[in-house]
Amino acid sequence: MKCIEEPAKKIPVCMEADVFVAGGSCTGVFAAVRAARLGAKVVLVERENCLGGTATAGLVNIWHSLKDTDYKNQVIAGLTYEMTERLVKSGSARLDDNPSTAINFDPNRLKYELDRLVEEEKIKVYLHTLCVGVITDGNEITAALIENKDGRSAVKAGFYIDATGDGDIMKYLGVKSYTGSPMQPPTPCYLMQGSLENIDYKSIIVEHGNEVGLPDDFGWSEPVTGLPGIYLRADFHIFGVDCSTADGLTLTEIEGRRKAYAFVELINKYAGTDLKIVALNSLAGVRETRHYETKQQACGRDMLLGKRYEDAVLNGTYRIDVHDEDACVTFYYLNGETVRMKGGISSNYIYGNWRKDEGITGEPAKYYQMPFSVLVQEKYRNIIAAGRMINADKMAYGALRVMVNLNQIGEAAGVAAYLSVNSGKPVWDIDGKEVRALLVKGGSAL
Ligand SMILES: Cc1cc2nc3c(=O)[nH]c(=O)nc-3n(C[C@H](O)[C@H](O)[C@H](O)COP(=O)(O)OP(=O)(O)OC[C@H]3O[C@@H](n4cnc5c(N)ncnc54)[C@H](O)[C@@H]3O)c2cc1C
Repeated sequence: MKCIEEPAKKIPVCMEADVFVAGGSCTGVFAAVRAARLGAKVVLVERENCLGGTATAGLVNIWHSLKDTDYKNQVIAGLTYEMTERLVKSGSARLDDNPSTAINFDPNRLKYELDRLVEEEKIKVYLHTLCVGVITDGNEITAALIENKDGRSAVKAGFYIDATGDGDIMKYLGVKSYTGSPMQPPTPCYLMQGSLENIDYKSIIVEHGNEVGLPDDFGWSEPVTGLPGIYLRADFHIFGVDCSTADGLTLTEIEGRRKAYAFVELINKYAGTDLKIVALNSLAGVRETRHYETKQQACGRDMLLGKRYEDAVLNGTYRIDVHDEDACVTFYYLNGETVRMKGGISSNYIYGNWRKDEGITGEPAKYYQMPFSVLVQEKYRNIIAAGRMINADKMAYGALRVMVNLNQIGEAAGVAAYLSVNSGKPVWDIDGKEVRALLVKGGSAL
């Protein structure tokens, strides 16, 4: 590629803090809040106009169950639970007993509640701000470079949390990365007015989708609490793109909007309905891009078998959920059940049982765990990546990528950041058991 040289220039330091967080989804916000509650001065930058990431700008309005698979004991608490309580209080979330759709919320209200939360915790937030690089000295990061309406400036901090989803800072640092094979494809979402409850829309797509370039695909939809008649639609994937590249992300956004209108207009044409799109996402739902190497890779098999850790920073019950490039979706449950949906919108359901297949007997685990070491990279002393860039095998990633899990990972990153700043220890010397203990004390891990 042809290159030009950018002349060196002095960059103003706009803030000095204990902890710098890049990316303001709930993962990043909850990291920031945990560190702030322990006494750290925290700065958070977010490239969108709001906090919440995929849950707000991406419109994905479901958090899965906080309880074990018996649906009796709560195994996840912390900031996900606090935020759920706030949303329920304002009539913007409802809880139900379905483990998949346990917490359904209005993404608009979540934006508002996250604004209030960072305000209460005195976290300095810059919206419309991109983290574009870092400065290092040996194995230490000394500043993060950011760009916004004020131009280019630097934030100096003791510790850095990369919550950008794709792991942008890890990329700037050259930490060893890999991609899922294949990567789980993205799904742009939208809010639609009008229900498809009594309409055989699947047959319409199968019979007429070709007219408007809509392939037979697998999707889902949920109502939005507090907005009667409004539904989140996640109807189709964009296949074969890498959303961590400029071209891949641009194509996903544009093709997503095209497919959304094609879908709604096709149903209106053949079902005689008057469905309307009332909001398009401002950030496509990205399922997977890069992952970064750490001390330990999360292992799906260990999770399914319910392996326990002294330094567990996450409890989870959401099934392993893998979307493939060929419009197949596969679920693996702790109790042994497997379901494979093959063939797009008109899916064949293929049922199985991985425990029976492997001859595993005894009581299945009621929840899984993830140890702190999965988060610890060993190249730079003062950074943790928290979010979907997690180091996980295909199966583990299928479960860890959901928000109730990433929210907990954010909280653990915030606690570890505080411990590192407070003790002067590099991240690899932070004791995971201490992280867990502080999470428990702060109401997070159970
Ligand atoms: C269609 C779809 C449906 C899903 N359904 C569910 C579901 O029902 N329930 C569930 O729990 N999970 C679901 N998931 C998975 C889940 O939503 C995501 O895996 C999760 O939200 C990812 O969180 P994250 O914090 O890692 O990244 P993101 O949500 O992508 O957040 C990253 C944030 O960082 C910001 N950012 C990125 N780069 C920079 C930068 N350089 N500087 C500053 N800011 C930056 C982004 O704007 C964004 O706000 C779904 C995913 C998709 C795509």
